Amino acid sequence: MSVLETLKSEFHTAFPRLASGKYVHFIMVRHSQSFPVFQTDGVLNTVPTQAGVREHKRINRLVMFKRKQTTPERLAGRELLRSLSLTSADKNAGNFCEYSGDKSCGQCPDCVIYGFAVGEKGSERSKVYSDSAFSLSAYETSHRSFTFNAPFEGGTMSEAGTMRSSINEQDHVLPEVTFPTVETLRDPTCEGFLYVMGNLLRARRYGAQETRTGTMENHILGIVFCDG
Ligand SMILES: [Zn+2]
Repeated sequence: MSVLETLKSEFHTAFPRLASGKYVHFIMVRHSQSFPVFQTDGVLNTVPTQAGVREHKRINRLVMFKRKQTTPERLAGRELLRSLSLTSADKNAGNFCEYSGDKSCGQCPDCVIYGFAVGEKGSERSKVYSDSAFSLSAYETSHRSFTFNAPFEGGTMSEAGTMRSSINEQDHVLPEVTFPTVETLRDPTCEGFLYVMGNLLRARRYGAQETRTGTMENHILGIVFCDG
């Protein structure tokens, strides 16, 4: 804890009512370990961007939109909160909190730090800022299209004279594609700082959930405490 002791003055002991001009930036590289899928409407999200500082030609890059980054991190944190009985998935429990829908408790670390919006309990804006992340490498060299068969239970594509035609083609991000990212926590408390950092280190599954393949690892390269 000695490092945290030296950083004590950077943290609030309670959340200030108004923004205080204290920020923590987590400078990261998100690194794919398997085949994530970041898509809307069936195609991978891409955007033309300038290739580099000196190289002005435009290349297509993969995009991880903001929600595709923060949702898995929130879910990792919420899993921890439930495992410590700080929140509950039981609708009748006093500490019930639901991620989606309007049953956010408004009191747990997830609600307080990442924000919530519920009619009668009011709302809280997220203290965690993130934005779209773009692949370092070009789309053309960072993805591959796979074709999937959906066979009958016997493992064949035809049964009782009927052919299965459910063959799906899906673009996947390749392993070892990097997405440089900065995520920011404003008005940090020491506990909130540890909670957000823990979520970054523990979140593993990014991208479309139904693909069950989307392992990524977050490497924290630097942490900046500053006033802007
Ligand atoms: Zn909550």
